[in-house]
Amino acid sequence: MMKRRSALFGVFTLMIGFAFGQKKGPTNPEATEIYKPVPPRVIPGQNGAPPSDAIILFDGSNFDQWITTADSTAVKWHLNKDGSMTVGNKTGNIQTKQNFGSMQLHLEWKSPQKVLNKGQQRANSGVFIQKRYEVQVLDNNDNPTYVNGQVGALYKQGIPLAMASSPTGEWNAYDIIFHAPEFSRGGNIVKPATITILHNGVLIQDHFEIEGTIEYIGWPKYEAHGKAPLMLQDHRDNSRVSFRNIWVRELK
Ligand code: MG
Repeated sequence: MMKRRSALFGVFTLMIGFAFGQKKGPTNPEATEIYKPVPPRVIPGQNGAPPSDAIILFDGSNFDQWITTADSTAVKWHLNKDGSMTVGNKTGNIQTKQNFGSMQLHLEWKSPQKVLNKGQQRANSGVFIQKRYEVQVLDNNDNPTYVNGQVGALYKQGIPLAMASSPTGEWNAYDIIFHAPEFSRGGNIVKPATITILHNGVLIQDHFEIEGTIEYIGWPKYEAHGKAPLMLQDHRDNSRVSFRNIWVRELK
């Protein structure tokens, strides 16, 4: 009688387990250990240097990787002795010669020490990923503006989770993980782009789903595109923002 009862109980617990989707698990640790494929070795950079597999876009020595966006001519920004570059006075946006899809991007920027103007006119620049999706660069210290256009905003779309700027005139770092949008053969959006940003190590965009191309006036919308350059903005108001140490790791 006891045997039959326990057998019935066993069947009952099995049914309950099945109903709740439980599977009989492995009974040894080796069963859940994976050995292949082995991740590639990447040597991390020391003291802010790029990792070993990064594409170096700007190391302070030249503009070889860049052109002026408007006419594809040589860059007219200032190349500084300290390994940085500074936006020229109305010398236009610059962009990489190379096109990029999904990426890990690192760059550093700073506003000029001398404070000029206010609001969106104070040290405004921007990091345009794929020439379409702007991560705002702005001196926001004691300088409020609309929050979806403040420093670290995905311009006019993504309000940053925090304002993590260095003091005016000091270097900031952006570490960006961007996943490019995917389109159908017919050109419709299938998977929107996403972006994660650390500003000076602080998470300010957390896998934000980009709504489409940045629009100054009107709503964002997607247009089908492939890989595209990285562009840095000349806001054309003497903003004089500087950049340095720009590198990319392409993501699949
Ligand atoms: Mg801007």
